[in-house]
Amino acid sequence: MILHLHPDIAPAQLDDMARTLRAAVLQSAGTTLLVTPSALKTVPAAFASYVAAQYPMDSDIQLASRSYLPQTRAVELAPGLWVGGDHRHTAMIAGPCSVESRTQIEASAAFVHGLGIRLLRGGCYKPRTSPYTFQGLGREGLELLAEMRDRYGLAIVTEVRDATHVEDVIAYADIVQIGAKAMYDHGILRRCGEIRKPVLLKRGFGSTLQEFVQAAEFILSGGNEQVLLCERGIRTFETKTRFTLDLCGVAYLKEYTNLPVVLDPSHAMGYRYGVADLARACVAMGVDGLLIETHPDPAVAQSDAAQQLDFPAFEALYRSLAPITQAVGYQLT
Ligand code: PEP
Ligand code: MN
Repeated sequence: MILHLHPDIAPAQLDDMARTLRAAVLQSAGTTLLVTPSALKTVPAAFASYVAAQYPMDSDIQLASRSYLPQTRAVELAPGLWVGGDHRHTAMIAGPCSVESRTQIEASAAFVHGLGIRLLRGGCYKPRTSPYTFQGLGREGLELLAEMRDRYGLAIVTEVRDATHVEDVIAYADIVQIGAKAMYDHGILRRCGEIRKPVLLKRGFGSTLQEFVQAAEFILSGGNEQVLLCERGIRTFETKTRFTLDLCGVAYLKEYTNLPVVLDPSHAMGYRYGVADLARACVAMGVDGLLIETHPDPAVAQSDAAQQLDFPAFEALYRSLAPITQAVGYQLT
């Protein structure tokens, strides 16, 4: 249950109420909120006088629920680039899987900037399946991304893999990405709840929608309201494609949650050949963002080589999207 409290509640009363009800306390738009377990359906009489408004909830999808906030939350991804709210923008996030070298990220930044794209992605701490493959450039990569931000005015999307570098990623990124394998890392989720930057939370490939949105609740209940949900494919019995892009799940997220939704067909497909068609299917759903991996020379990419688009293929795809976003009442940004 979400409770909006009267502003005159004393700190001691607030502490007592939060402890008794086992509630998270946060501030939202100048109001103090308590979020109790959803099993609580009525406010105990002893606390009733502190409550200005109450929202009983069906499940622990609470702050992210559309029954609490009926509109998609507005999030500013780069200066003046908003998604959610009344904006109906589909924001493009593009760049390589990993930052590999100055030459590679410089070529990528110049390319996406040349197309008018504002959001550059690239991982510096890669959650690889094998310890013997490229693990990312780490801090050096973050510094290269910061240079690209300064040179091209791009906002940087980069991922945090684990607790060892969470502070560095938070310091350098404009949008902090939490990867699929880190979706259950509660240290990362809670730390991202304390910051005031947008967080792109990717769905774990073995996670239900309930688990995915509850992971977002850890960030929201920490007080960070800028959370984007990213569907990037789930593991099914199918092995011909890398994962299965759960577009039914996207419909669910749009219907029942108030968080902007970003789609990542690159990781879902795992192969170049399907990415453009899938990307068009994604934007046809009316979504807040699209994430596509592109690399100056995918054949030599050090991670996710099979799925990254070269620049001509990316550009052709990108130019095909605007009419589709328009047809569903969105604008590609
Ligand atoms: C990525 O974005 O490069 C990545 C590692 O994605 P995911 O966490 O979805 O596998
Ligand atoms: Mn990747």
